[in-house]
Amino acid sequence: MLDETLDKSLHRLVDLFLEENTKLNLSAFRSEEDCWNGNVLDSLAALELDFLSQANAGTSVLDIGTGGGFPLLPLALSFPAARHFGLDSTQKKIDAVQRIVNAMNIPNVTLLCGRAEELGRDSQHRGQYDIVTVRGLAALNTLLEYASPFVKPGGYIICWKSMKTEQELKDSLLARAELSCQLKTQHRYSLPEKWGERQLLVFVKRGPLSAKYPRAVGMPKKKPLL
Ligand code: SAH
Repeated sequence: MLDETLDKSLHRLVDLFLEENTKLNLSAFRSEEDCWNGNVLDSLAALELDFLSQANAGTSVLDIGTGGGFPLLPLALSFPAARHFGLDSTQKKIDAVQRIVNAMNIPNVTLLCGRAEELGRDSQHRGQYDIVTVRGLAALNTLLEYASPFVKPGGYIICWKSMKTEQELKDSLLARAELSCQLKTQHRYSLPEKWGERQLLVFVKRGPLSAKYPRAVGMPKKKPLL
């Protein structure tokens, strides 16, 4: 059960998101119910992970490819003590999320517009985050190359995935080795009714990362590590 204040904030988030979604195409979810189940509850699945429930004032969380603000905003509302950052390469999406953040007065969110491949080489961001979250961005081999540069050694990468990841997991073996990412947990969860079963794949960054990574803009997707 969600705490009453949090529940209220999350419903307000849905209203504001749907309003923004009529102006821009942020997501296919256009009804309140779809947005609640498919975006909000799906984002909150991460609350079931033990290490995340220990997030405190020193914890920094980066959501790569945040789009319309998921999982960024539900997590920022759930962990108000932690610092949350949302990165997306599309300025109009970042602007929409910023308007939601302003309307709700969410104090612990910073938005960044840029490519993961570029910010991952910037010393202000490289190796600076305890936790990186990724939903709906790319296949595992590509997204680990986007994500690993941002994570502190010992930090975590949480990936939102469907139940069908067998092939993706196989195809990510080289990427995991090259990028020092070790699969720690496959956490299954269920959403109401038609939304069904999904999973969070959690990786731990085991060590430092070679200066080769990330490769140039576009390369992690065009020529994924295989
Ligand atoms: N996380 C959101 C949006 C997923 S769509 C959700 O689950 O609803 C993927 C988003 O990633 C898009 O908004 C796109 O603009 C952004 N994106 C794609 N490649 C990127 C890159 N290399 N760096 C930063 N953002 C990227």
